[in-house]
Amino acid sequence: MGWKVTFQSPDVGLVYLDYNATAPTRPEALQATLAAMNSVGNASSTHRSGRGAAERVDLARRQLADLLNCSHGEIVFTSGATEANNLALRAAFASGGRLATSAVEHPAILETAKAITADQPGALVVLAVDADGLVDMDALHAALATRDVGVVSLMAANNETGVLTDLAPVTKAAHEAGALVHTDATQMVGRLPIDLAETDVDLLSLSAHKFGGPQGVGALFVRRGAALPYRPLLFGGGQERGWRAGTLNVAGIAGAGAAAEAARLGMAAEVPRITRLRDLLEAALVSQVGDCRVNGAADRRLPGVTSITFHSAPADAVLASMPDVAASEGSACSSGAPSPSHVLLAMGRSREEAECTVRFSLGYGTTADDIDRAVASTVRAVQHVRATLASAT
Ligand code: PMP
Repeated sequence: MGWKVTFQSPDVGLVYLDYNATAPTRPEALQATLAAMNSVGNASSTHRSGRGAAERVDLARRQLADLLNCSHGEIVFTSGATEANNLALRAAFASGGRLATSAVEHPAILETAKAITADQPGALVVLAVDADGLVDMDALHAALATRDVGVVSLMAANNETGVLTDLAPVTKAAHEAGALVHTDATQMVGRLPIDLAETDVDLLSLSAHKFGGPQGVGALFVRRGAALPYRPLLFGGGQERGWRAGTLNVAGIAGAGAAAEAARLGMAAEVPRITRLRDLLEAALVSQVGDCRVNGAADRRLPGVTSITFHSAPADAVLASMPDVAASEGSACSSGAPSPSHVLLAMGRSREEAECTVRFSLGYGTTADDIDRAVASTVRAVQHVRATLASAT
C-alpha cells in the first residue's frame, strides 16, 4: 500500500456528540475498507483473487466473533441492523407462537413486528416500560405464563436514552417458557462488553457504523443449534450459509471487522473515560441550565448517552441555536417526522416534554474540550430559546 489513512475529526470546528446516530469511522476501519476496495475479488470465487477476498471476510468474521465471544460460524453478515432485525424476527416468529417485544424498541423492530403479525390478531405483545425506561418484567412473566410466546425481542440498550436491558433474567424466563430470545444490540456492541458465552440469547443484531465501521454493514448472530426454521429474506446465490444471498460486501465487512477489533482493544480504557465525560456533561448542564430532567435509569445506561429534557425549550429550536454541536432530538431515524419520541412517551413523558428533549451521545473520539464547548453552547442555546419564547408570550 502506497498510502496511509489518518484520522480526521468528522467536521473541523464541529463538536460531534451524535455517536448513537452514527460514529465517526475508526482509522483502522478506514484502512481495512480501502485496502479491500483496492483489491479485486468476489469472496465466492475459487481463484486466488476470490480466496483473498474470502480471507478478508473470514478475518472480519473472527474479529466480530472475538468482540462478542461467540464462534465465527455464528455470524451472518447483513446490510445493517435493520436487515438483521427483520431476518431475526421473521425466522423466530416462523417457529410459532406469539412475539413479545417492548414499547421502546427501534422502528426496525416495532415496524417489523407489526408487519409480520398483521394478519394474526393478538400475536404481538408490546411490553410497557416504567418511568426509567425499564421493561415491565411482571408483564413479561405474565405473557410467558401463557406458554404461547415463541420469541421475545428486547433491545440491549436503548438508542434514545441508553437504558440497558438486564438480559439474564429475560433469557432465563423466556427459555423456561420455551421461547427464543432476540436482542437488538445495535447500540451496545462496541460500547460495553458483550459475552455471548454468558448471555444466553439465541439471536443478536448489530450495525457496524455504530462502533466505527462503515454504514450499510451489520450482522446477525445466530446461535448454533437454536431451534430456528431457515427463513432468509433474500434468496439467490446461497452466501452466508443460505441466510443472506448476494455477493458479500467485502470492503464494508473488512471495515466492520477492523472496527470491532479496535473497539474490543479499546474497551477497558474507553468505558470509564466516556462515562466520566458523559457525567461531566450531564452535571454541568443540569446545574447551569436549570429546570431540566435527565431521562432513563441513572445507573443502568450506556456510558456515552444522556437524554435531557430542557423544559420550555423545544429541542429543534435549541439545536438550531447551537450549530457548532451535532446532537439529536429523539432518534436520528425518526427526525424529520412530526411525532414526538415514542420512547419518551412510553416512559410517561408528556408530548411537550418529549419535544423539549435533546440526546447527546459520546464515543471514542470525544474529548474533554468537546464537553466544555458543548456545555457552553447548550447553556447559551437553551437560555436564548427560553428568553425568546418568554418575550413572545
Ligand atoms: N436498532 C437500533 C437500536 C438502532 O439504534 C439502529 C440505528 N439507529 C438500528 C437498529 C438500525 O440500524 P441501521 O440503520 O444501521 O440498519
